[in-house]
Amino acid sequence: MLDNKVKEQLRAYFTKLVNPVILTASSDASKKSQEMLGLLKDLTGLSDKITLAENGNSPRAPSFTVNRPDGNCHIEFAGLPMGHEFTSLILAILQTGGYPPKVEADVIEQIRQVEGSFQFETYISLTCQNCPEVVQALNLMAVLNPNISSTMIDGALFQDEVKERQIMAVPTIYLNGKEFGQGRMNVKEILAKIDTGSVKREAEKISAKAPFDVLVIGGGSAAATAAIYAARKGIRTGLVTENFGGQILNTTDIENIIAIKKIEGTHLASIYEENIRSHAIDVMMPQRAVKLIPGDLIEVQLESGASVKSKTVILATGATWRKMAVPGEETYIGKGVAFCPHCDGPLYKGKDVAVIGGGNSAVEAAIDLAGIANHVSVLIRSDRLTADTILQDKMLSLKNVTLIKQAKTVEVAGDGKKVTGIVYLDQTDNTQKNLPLSGIFVQIGQVPTTGWLKDSPVRLNGKQEIEVDVYNRTSVPGIFAAGDATSSPYKQIVIAMGDGAKASLSAFDHLIRH
Ligand code: NDP
Repeated sequence: MLDNKVKEQLRAYFTKLVNPVILTASSDASKKSQEMLGLLKDLTGLSDKITLAENGNSPRAPSFTVNRPDGNCHIEFAGLPMGHEFTSLILAILQTGGYPPKVEADVIEQIRQVEGSFQFETYISLTCQNCPEVVQALNLMAVLNPNISSTMIDGALFQDEVKERQIMAVPTIYLNGKEFGQGRMNVKEILAKIDTGSVKREAEKISAKAPFDVLVIGGGSAAATAAIYAARKGIRTGLVTENFGGQILNTTDIENIIAIKKIEGTHLASIYEENIRSHAIDVMMPQRAVKLIPGDLIEVQLESGASVKSKTVILATGATWRKMAVPGEETYIGKGVAFCPHCDGPLYKGKDVAVIGGGNSAVEAAIDLAGIANHVSVLIRSDRLTADTILQDKMLSLKNVTLIKQAKTVEVAGDGKKVTGIVYLDQTDNTQKNLPLSGIFVQIGQVPTTGWLKDSPVRLNGKQEIEVDVYNRTSVPGIFAAGDATSSPYKQIVIAMGDGAKASLSAFDHLIRH
């Protein structure tokens, strides 16, 4: 199952196991069960601290638990945690076996103190890059607190369950049998939801901080660069962010950062985090800025109720998926309307789906989905695709992809629970048409995350981007901006990084002069 190179790496990791770990398999006669047993046998062969029991009695097969001999840790994987979940499996084994997690001591203590009974089930797909963060966070919580259990379920393998619970996006998290949340979430965000007092306590801690020299808002490519440049100048640097990585978390292979041949978005995000944490940067995460009040000391108010002050601020809040803004879209997000083909694509196996848009993202999505879905309709409002020719040619060569031109989306149709079709205006004959389908992947570009600045004096342009000059200064002295949230053209990772560096150097220059 595992190749020799991976086995050698794992053998080295498993020397870090302090305590025994028991893998207990629940299997049936299926091929997947045999594959799972093959994987587990490979793992047990790599360390005498890992043993395998084949007498599991989980209702889901194939599945297995990762436990300590005291039976006090409830981690289960239903399906084979390969693909993006392989790291989740290895971390679960290491942490169950006593390898210390890389989490702040106060968070570990907070997890240990959680009272009550919390049975989490997380539906994932193996190609979802956002899922491992949730699985790993919940597994860690299960390792530290016997009142918490964590089960990962591969939605592509347990289709009946997915159908019954009407899961159409991953990760979808259930707590004690009820839907708890959807989408990327880290340990602190999950803790905030189950331990509501923690938000207030964290906000009080943040508000008590002394003013910063530079406060960076955001956690993507521009923000990470800006914060590291500031910290390297030896000035007091703070970073307010919801996550590390920003949009790169939704990107698979990145091939246009010239110093690196190819890297996965989530891997690059973990490098950002490591780099940020190795500098003197005060990270406030997960926190979302909601208001900016300029002054001698600039104030940034956070959704948690906290308030942070700084002599200069760098706005690097990036961009998010553009929505179609048609009736039904909001209602069915996560119930058939999707934005991440890598994540949610596997849930549409054998179904009919649509992709909206004709740029590189849309055409790449259509090519990906054509390998999973029964049929893919690509709807564009004009009469030409704008994607690179090589991608267009590939898509148009696929038998189960249809391009529908001059199709203006009018409505997302649904039955109250899930998407049933899309209604569009056929501009060739001015008639409305209804296309029955199960999923709609919206790929129509990005919008800057600047809504929170609307009441501030920071000037935005017609596209709602923060206006910046060549020094990345905004219209307000002391406030700088960088990356996809700004008017800087060509939204690219390297450009965001360059702008982040410029904004930081300009902030430093401002501090010296004032
Ligand atoms: P783009 O801006 O390139 O394309 C947006 C598409 O969505 C266009 O077809 C546009 O149609 C359509 N559109 C916009 N608004 C609406 C709307 N309200 N309703 C319906 N359709 C709409 O965005 P992408 O996300 O595709 O790409 C963003 C950037 O990232 C680009 O620079 C792209 O090249 C790059 N990228 C590169 C990749 C690669 O190199 N492999 C992969 C993915 C992205 P219209 O033409 O009618 O305006």
